[in-house]
This record gives sequence, C-alpha cells and structure tokens, in this order.
Amino acid sequence: TPGPIGSSVIPIVNKLQDIFAQLGSSSTFDLPQVAVVGSQSSGKSSVLEALVGRDFLPRGSDICTRRPLVLQLVHFTRKQDAPAGDMEEWGEFLHIPGNRFYDFSEIRREIQAETDREVGGNKGVSDKQIRLKIFSPNVLNITLVDLPGITKVPVGDQPNDIEARIRTMILSYIKHETCIILAVSPANADLSNSDALQMARIADPDGSRTIGVITKLDIMDKGTDARNFLLGNVIPLRLGYVGVVNRSQQDINLNRSIKDALANEETFFRRQPVYHGLSHCCGIPKLAKKLNQILVQHIRAVLPGLKSRINSQLVAVVKEHAAYGDVVESKAGQGVKLLNILTKYCEAFTSMIEGKNEELSAA
Ligand code: GDP
Ligand code: MG
Repeated sequence: TPGPIGSSVIPIVNKLQDIFAQLGSSSTFDLPQVAVVGSQSSGKSSVLEALVGRDFLPRGSDICTRRPLVLQLVHFTRKQDAPAGDMEEWGEFLHIPGNRFYDFSEIRREIQAETDREVGGNKGVSDKQIRLKIFSPNVLNITLVDLPGITKVPVGDQPNDIEARIRTMILSYIKHETCIILAVSPANADLSNSDALQMARIADPDGSRTIGVITKLDIMDKGTDARNFLLGNVIPLRLGYVGVVNRSQQDINLNRSIKDALANEETFFRRQPVYHGLSHCCGIPKLAKKLNQILVQHIRAVLPGLKSRINSQLVAVVKEHAAYGDVVESKAGQGVKLLNILTKYCEAFTSMIEGKNEELSAA
C-alpha cells in the first residue's frame, strides 16, 4: 500500500518548515491546499480518504458532505520514550478544542453530528466550515478540503437555489491560485457533462492546477471503458487524469478496510487488459504520486523567493544588532547556517526533479 499523501516528501518539507519556524513569524512555508470538486456521490470523500489512508469521512449514496470540511494534516515527531502501543494518531476539531479523538470512526460520527447541529438532519447544506486537524507522525503538513457536491434538484430542507449556492461555495475555495483541484467525475456518467471539469475550468482556465480523477471504473456499462477519457482524448487536461476504483456502497456497508480496497483496486487494473498500457494513470497510488510531483514542483518554484527573503532578513538582523557587539556574530552565524541548509535543500530538490533521485519523487 502507498504511504499517505506526500509521504515521500515529508522529511524534506518538515525540515524546511522547521527552518522557517526558527526564523520567526515573518517567514512561512506553506504547501498548496488540495480540494475535491464534483457532483454529489461522484466519490470525492472516498478519494480523499484513500489519499490520507484513514477511514474517517462520511461517505454514502445520499448527500453526506453537507459542510466544507477543512482537514489539516499536522506532522509531529513521536517521542522516543513514548510507551509501546501509545496511540500515534488522533484528530481534533476546532469546535471541541482539546478533545483528542483516537478512534477514527468517532471522528466520522462527530462530523455527522456537527453537520446536523448546524444544518439539521434533513439534507440541509451550509458553507460554514468544520475544521479538523489530524495529528500523525506519517503525514505531510498539508490542508485538504472536502466539499459538498453539486446537486441540481432541491431535496429535504434545501433552498430552491441550492445548485447556485453550492457552486459559489466551491468556487470560493478553488479560485485561489494556490489550490490544487481534484476534479472528480464518475466513469459511469458522460464526461462531457462533468460538473467537476466545468467548475475546474472556471477557476483554472488553463488547467495548470487541475487533476482529473475518474472514479467508479468498476461499474461502467459492459463493453465500455474509460481509456479515451484517461488519455485525455475526450477532454484534454494539462495535468492529465487518474482513474481509480474506490469502495462500493456494499464495501462500506461491510466495513471493508482501505487496505483491502487498495488491493481490490490493484486486482481490478491487473485483470482489465484495456488498462494495461495505462498503468501511469491508474490507481490511488498513482494519484498520490502525481500530487507529490506537483507539490515538489511547487516547493521548487517557491524556494528561491524564500531564500532571498531569508537573506534580506539576515541583513536586517545584522544591522539591527550592529550596536550590540558580538551578539551579531552568533545571530548572523545562525542565519548563515540556516541559509546553507536551505541551499542544500534547493539542490536536493533540483536533482530530485531532474530524476536523479527517483526514490524521493516516487509516491
Ligand atoms: P461524494 O458525495 O462525492 O463525496 O461521494 P462518496 O465518496 O460519498 O461516494 C458516494 C458513493 O459512491 C458511495 O456509496 C461510494 O461507496 C460509491 N463509490 C465511490 N467511488 C466508487 C468507485 O470507484 N466504485 C464504486 N463501485 N463505488 C464507488
Ligand atoms: Mg462527500
């Protein structure tokens, strides 16, 4: 099974974030957000869960995601002397500060309960966020956003303009230049009708930050396949498509694990000759890899700017401390050391991108 999203860049990103933390609040190093968009029940929550590698999101054939869920993954280093079997990962909601959820199915229940508290139990939708942090030694510090899907016909407590409201809500997230858009479309519907691709195109017309994700390859009509979609022959997309097979509703009802689901997906692609030449764009691990590469590109693009910012900060420190004699020495010395480390990381990234270090760029 693949590591969670971004796992291969964790060490390098954490190092960078450490460096910037040491430099104080004026320097930050943020990774782009990742948001899922698409029509209701297209498989958005399923895709996010598979990427994170844990079961905790409400999923189902009905409208499940009814408020934006802003999921912040927070990396922490486990204490060396932590007792064996000590819980390693937990979730914490902004609306219940200090309460650690070690049981991930309880996280799911709390998302549902908190959704109901805000919008009632009858399919109501709200743009008020639920904010959840997941602390783990195995994650990258990154923010993922699970969004309600686009629906057309109001049901339950939904207002008449439900579609317009949801579209506005989605746009408010994906319009940001730093947001990576996972445009999720089910393979059993016509791709040219895809709400996901339509919304993504509005927010990202040149397709520089949109990845197409085609779900439900396992339940396409007999005699059809998604080959042409995946190859970009139907609707071209600069960053391309990845086809995936998530858990079916029956798998969810039977409580099948993510691990089983990934094994099942792997078997599916192995048994379908039509996808054999397309292994680079088939499966959740490949989606994770694609995302990783985009994150790495992003890091490489922002590093030079960060470096020069540190440089000018150093100059400022030296000036500020000029009056205090040898304090300058140590402060500036520290900064130079950090700058050297950073330079080394820039070089590591460059060679990683040029493929000299396949290990790092693989998901
Ligand atoms: P969302 O509304 O877009 O967040 O979709 P969910 O992730 O909640 O999934 C909606 C329904 O589709 C659930 O019943 C899932 O089990 C099912 N589903 C999602 N992806 C797939 C897939 O790749 N194959 C199959 N067979 N079912 C899927
Ligand atoms: Mg959902």
